[in-house]
Amino acid sequence: MWISECEMCSGSGACDPCQGYGVLSDSYPNAGDGPDCDACDGTGTCPNCAGTGDEIHDNSTTNVNGCAVSDEAGWKASA
Ligand SMILES: [Zn+2]
Ligand SMILES: [Zn+2]
Repeated sequence: MWISECEMCSGSGACDPCQGYGVLSDSYPNAGDGPDCDACDGTGTCPNCAGTGDEIHDNSTTNVNGCAVSDEAGWKASA
């Protein structure tokens, strides 16, 4: 497992489509008629990282073939 900066929000933790406001753009500035953001359900929090700004990668599925040798060691052995 490793953690990187969230791609969706670039680490800000704010929902990208609505820029953290929870609503999409108004029809004109300050109109207040913007629809709720679908991506974050109106919370304004990045749905990809839950607002942490970190994207957690779980690579536990890379060993589905049962091979316990890391990719790096495998490459070195075959070189
Ligand atoms: Zn994010
Ligand atoms: Zn949003």
